[in-house]
Formats: sequence, C-alpha cells, structure tokens
Amino acid sequence: MKQKTIIVTGIPGVGKTTVLNELSKLVEPEKKKLQVFNYGFIMLEVAKLEGLKIERDMLRQVPLNIQQRLQANAAIEIVNRSSNVGIMIIDTHMIVKTGNGYWPGLPLTVLEKLRPNLLFLIETEPEEILSRRTKDKTRTRNQVLTKEIKEELAFSRFVAASCSTLTGAPVIILKNPQGEQLKVAKEILNIIKLLDRE
Ligand code: ATP
Ligand code: AMP
Ligand code: MG
Repeated sequence: MKQKTIIVTGIPGVGKTTVLNELSKLVEPEKKKLQVFNYGFIMLEVAKLEGLKIERDMLRQVPLNIQQRLQANAAIEIVNRSSNVGIMIIDTHMIVKTGNGYWPGLPLTVLEKLRPNLLFLIETEPEEILSRRTKDKTRTRNQVLTKEIKEELAFSRFVAASCSTLTGAPVIILKNPQGEQLKVAKEILNIIKLLDRE
C-alpha cells in the first residue's frame, strides 16, 4: 500500500510532541507501519552536517536565508528517510515566529515534496499554552502575552487553510486540553486507521 503522509502542526508548547509520543506508544506492536519525524530536529541535523551548531530554540532567530535552506534540505531528508510504506507523521509548525515576522513552516516548495494526505492543527486555550511554555524547563520557548498567543493561534489557522488549498489535504483541528494527551493520541489513531483503509 502507498504511504500516507500526515502533518501534525500547532504553535510551540501546545503539546504536539507529547501527543505524538503517546501515539507511538499506542502503535508499539505495529511500529514498523509508523514513522514519526520531528521537522525541527531534522533541520538541526542538516545544520550539523553543514558544520553549523545551532541550539533548538535559537533556530528561528538565525538569518532567514539560512532557515530557508535548512527547511528546504530537511524536506528532502525526510522524503529520503521515509520508508514509503505505512504512515509517515511529521511534527512541525504552520508558522515560525522568526525575527522577521511570521514565516510559513510549510511553503509550497516543502508541500510539493512532502505531499501530505492530511493536516492536523493542535490547539488549546491560550492561557494553558502560556503555562506549558513557562513550566517546561527543557525548552526556551517565547514567553509572550496571552494576546500574542491568540494571534499565533489565529495565524496558524490562516496558514493551515492555505496549506489545505494548495495540497487538497483536509485540515482537522484537535484540542489538547490539560491531561488529555492520550485521548488526543487515540483520536488521531482512529482517524489514521480510516485513512489507512483508503
Ligand atoms: P514545540 O513546538 O515547542 O516543540 P510542542 O507542541 O511539541 O512544542 P510539547 O513539548 O509536546 O509541545 O509540550 C509542551 C509542554 O506541555 C510539555 O511540558 C508537556 O509535558 C506539556 N503538555 C503537553 N500536552 C499536555 C496536556 N495535554 N496536558 C498537560 N500538559 C501537556
Ligand atoms: P520544535 O521542536 O517542533 O519546536 O522545532 C524546533 C524548531 O525548528 C522550531 O522552533 C522552528 O524554529 C524549527 N522548525 C520546525 N519545523 C519547521 C518548519 N517546517 N520550517 C521551518 N522551521 C521549522
Ligand atoms: Mg515539540
């Protein structure tokens, strides 16, 4: 069966990686059928190969031309690493808040390489996202005002609509409330199972 590609997006701290870790645990027995790539991680690997040493949460601050090159090469790397069977999930962002404003995580050139079948946009309450960013000491996420989080959420929806129009892939918006990461992972799994039958 031809591989299905699913892109999971959401603003920093909303819980994408947490939910996808739960999903990986759920599919453990059928692990070979599921590949999860973290786009930012692949960009950092590409940077390392180029001799650039960049810290994860500094990536969005490096000059845009460098981010653009790493983004383009990461898409090629993901396609090269994909097994071409089962489900490929990509953990990434609709928008990246760079020093030069909002920048698309999935411009047309990237979408043409990844060819997604389905796009997820994970959301939760702005106050909750702010609290998750503050509490998570493993990362250095932007500490901003609630109104800025609201703008990031809104802008992500606009860009999700664009990605959907460009690819023909539907967008599913899922909420990730407090303590419900396993429930969200199960929801994604159920949707994937339906897709896998197509
Ligand atoms: P980034 O884009 O910056 O990588 P992310 O969307 O992957 O962010 P996570 O790293 O998964 O976000 O989660 C951010 C923080 O929120 C973590 O400390 C995680 O434990 C917590 N978290 C995630 N989902 C939930 C949830 N449903 N309930 C409570 N805490 C959560
Ligand atoms: P994450 O671990 O998902 O927060 O990713 C780390 C960083 O990688 C993000 O803060 C962005 O700077 C960058 N990144 C992730 N996905 C993309 C993308 N699709 N395009 C450009 N940069 C990205
Ligand atoms: Mg993450």
